Amino acid sequence: MHSYSLAAAAKINLYLEIIGSRSDGYHELATVFQSIDLVDKIDLRLSGNDSICVHCDHPQVPSDRTNLAYRAAELMKTEFPDAFAKYGGINITIDKQIPVAAGLAGGSTNAAAVLVGIDLIWQLGLTQAELQTLAAQLGSDVPFCVMGGTALATERGENLSPLPDLDNLYVVLAKYRNLTISTPWAYQTYREKYSDCYITDAQSLAACWEKVHSSPMVRAIAPKDSTQIGKLLHNDFERAVFPEYPQLMQLKAAFEQARVLGTIMSGSGPTIFALTETPEQAQLVKETVKQAISDPELELWVTKFIPTGIRIAK
Ligand code: ATP
Repeated sequence: MHSYSLAAAAKINLYLEIIGSRSDGYHELATVFQSIDLVDKIDLRLSGNDSICVHCDHPQVPSDRTNLAYRAAELMKTEFPDAFAKYGGINITIDKQIPVAAGLAGGSTNAAAVLVGIDLIWQLGLTQAELQTLAAQLGSDVPFCVMGGTALATERGENLSPLPDLDNLYVVLAKYRNLTISTPWAYQTYREKYSDCYITDAQSLAACWEKVHSSPMVRAIAPKDSTQIGKLLHNDFERAVFPEYPQLMQLKAAFEQARVLGTIMSGSGPTIFALTETPEQAQLVKETVKQAISDPELELWVTKFIPTGIRIAK
């Protein structure tokens, strides 16, 4: 086939703990990723020449080499020169539905879709593990976006342990349209405030990973215990981000008032999400929060957990 349309899922973090600092400058993390049914559509087509082109109408998404989808195609070109010589370049069209710089891995999931799509178009037959190794070169969230579903991630976020699928939860997402947060800024702010609590020695780190693998959140996922999952939602970034953006704390309080299973910021923010057990409850929570905070800049979405990251679109 000369073209593929792929659906690239956003992620939320059900749990995110910043554990320490690494010698490569990144942070040691423990996080539980969850794919949600908020997707960008990525169309990939052989360009008929040796160019890589990205088209995206969204004003905040670059169409040049800085687009993560472009970088994914360039990586495939470098890694598989024979396939590139045989098939040529790729045109990539991104229909952006995932809010940008929102803590939902929008760029990362686009890059993951390009890796999966080029593997199909160039008929490379890469394994999931091979795709994830390539993905890790593009960013810490990209390997999870290739895999999708529910997973515990450690180290920079690229060391993944799949967890049982959660298919029984609905999500209400809320984000102020005019508010974006840069992930590097969030890490820097966290480091300035809390680096004295970082774990640095190898022995303490190993003990920490062991604890994380049997943590209450991980144990609540296997039996799909939605009440516990809601109660155990956690994100260390809130401590760094909320003091700078008090409107996010108010948004979280509005979700709490709406009696949800739990509510938390996703990734480095600024999206706040809440969990419910049914789509009807999610719709009701959306309306309640919309009324409580009558700001026209506040956007809300109802969606659900899904077991896949990248899938071929219908
Ligand atoms: P993460 O949760 O992985 O930290 P995010 O959801 O917070 O990511 P993105 O939506 O990926 O953030 O956007 C971060 C920055 O990346 C934006 O400033 C945007 O301009 C740039 N960017 C590059 N490529 C893309 C892409 N394909 N889609 C969205 N943003 C992109």
